Amino acid sequence: MIRYDLTGKTALVTGGASGIGLATGTMLAGFGCTVAVNHLPDDPRGPEAVAKLNASGAQAIAAPGHVGIAGDAERMVGAALEKLGRLDLLVNNAGTPGTRSRIAPPELDLITEELWSTLLETNLLGVFRCAKAAAPALKAAHGAIVNTASIAGLGRAGSSLAYGATKAGVVSLTQNLARALGPEVRVNAIAPGAVDSPWMVEWTEEERRNTIDRAVLKRRCTPEDLAEVILFLGFGAAMVTGQTIVVDGGLTL
Ligand code: NAD
Repeated sequence: MIRYDLTGKTALVTGGASGIGLATGTMLAGFGCTVAVNHLPDDPRGPEAVAKLNASGAQAIAAPGHVGIAGDAERMVGAALEKLGRLDLLVNNAGTPGTRSRIAPPELDLITEELWSTLLETNLLGVFRCAKAAAPALKAAHGAIVNTASIAGLGRAGSSLAYGATKAGVVSLTQNLARALGPEVRVNAIAPGAVDSPWMVEWTEEERRNTIDRAVLKRRCTPEDLAEVILFLGFGAAMVTGQTIVVDGGLTL
């Protein structure tokens, strides 16, 4: 793994209380970065994660807020910026499938207006809201944004067709935010394949087995596999912007 000296750097990670977000915050903090951990206001895993990081000697603050609510996302970013004092990296990782069981493409009757609205508000508009609110601080610090897309946004079936559309939107937004915020700020995305995280969608044993068998590298991704690439896009990769990097062990190859 590449090692970084992130002393004096700061990051805000949305959806930082679990899975990929928690692994990213932990890895950043381990390299000396001060991390603001965004979490849903009623999610006890957020304060627990912050307490655990601080107990280990790292620097972490809680940044409660719902990125899917206009106004709350911007307030959360503003409050985190005030505490951090500067911003080098924004990780737009918060996301939801909006459903517990997967909705196959032909099941159009299960794709409701409510599901669209939940997915668009958090997975797509949430990314834009946080990026817009953080842009001046990121420009001042010559920082970076890393968004969490999905292989579902690159033509694969995801938890639902609406979910896939929001993640395809994240891929497009990543390109246009890179145009909007350059040359000061680089903007990239990761597209995870099947990740072992507390993701709400319940996988059957057969589906899990399938994602391992079909992957060239013969295992599922861990949250740390994704965190490593997020750190690279955030603090390495000086000439990479507007790109979406697939991290799926060759599942889609
Ligand atoms: P996860 O469920 O552990 O993480 C998602 C986090 O986002 C949770 O902590 C959740 O509480 C938080 N969140 C949800 N809505 C929020 C909101 N409106 N405001 C703030 N926080 C909110 O699962 P994960 O796998 O770590 O997911 C992280 C990202 O990875 C998501 O964007 C997801 O779409 C993406 N992804 C996951 C997989 C997978 O197989 N797990 C595959 C591709 C992409």
